Amino acid sequence: SASRKFLVGGNWKCNLTKAAISDLVSAFNAASPLDPTAVEVVIAPPAIYLDSTRQILRDDFAISAQNVWVSAGGAYTGELDATMISDVGGDWTILGHSERRHHPVLKESDATIAEKAKYALETAGLNVMYCIGELLEERQSGNTVAVCERQLAALAATVSDWSKIVIAYEPVWAIGTGEVATPEQAEEVHFAVRKWLEKNVGKGVAEATRILYGGSVSPANCEELAKKGNIDGFLVGGASMQPSFLEIVDSYK
Ligand code: PEP
Repeated sequence: SASRKFLVGGNWKCNLTKAAISDLVSAFNAASPLDPTAVEVVIAPPAIYLDSTRQILRDDFAISAQNVWVSAGGAYTGELDATMISDVGGDWTILGHSERRHHPVLKESDATIAEKAKYALETAGLNVMYCIGELLEERQSGNTVAVCERQLAALAATVSDWSKIVIAYEPVWAIGTGEVATPEQAEEVHFAVRKWLEKNVGKGVAEATRILYGGSVSPANCEELAKKGNIDGFLVGGASMQPSFLEIVDSYK
């Protein structure tokens, strides 16, 4: 929508090498400057490459973590304190990605993700891309909106300032599968999310909060999705590791 700035996230997940990142960043850096009044771009490299990517990536693309620890650092082997993200020039973290919610070795709960969001927002001062979305069986049993509302409620119970929160609606059956939600399917859920925010958080927050769509977004399907009134941008996995990611960034035009 015209009143909300379009946002496109690129989630590189657990992919790429230092050399591949250097090539990809060169391609991104060669493109024209963004119109800062119209669009934001946020790139989430694997944590080990976050600092080095920040150092080579154009300044008008922000950097995000893909996950952080629930609170302050200390004796938590293998974890990242959210304040370390800002220390190396990152401004964002993704939280609640379906791969972290559902992978059997991770199984992050709504409560854990909400706790991470609170620390990242309130202590580290990061922006948070909070992912929600239903499994295929939840859609088939008619529970899509109920699942998204449960995930939103966990966040709303924990944080009060929504100015640094972006919601990413990512139906799990569409992530990394090549099976994109139709613009109508996505818009229906985005509308329901905005209504939920209006009823449970407030009208101002509902109007201002960006709701991104994620799940097999590509240069070929992004324009139709971007036309929908409640789709305010994208969270892109596979297609964010190609120079043609820039076509998705431009899809608001
Ligand atoms: C994602 O990583 O959040 C995602 C939507 O992946 P893909 O675009 O590859 O489906």
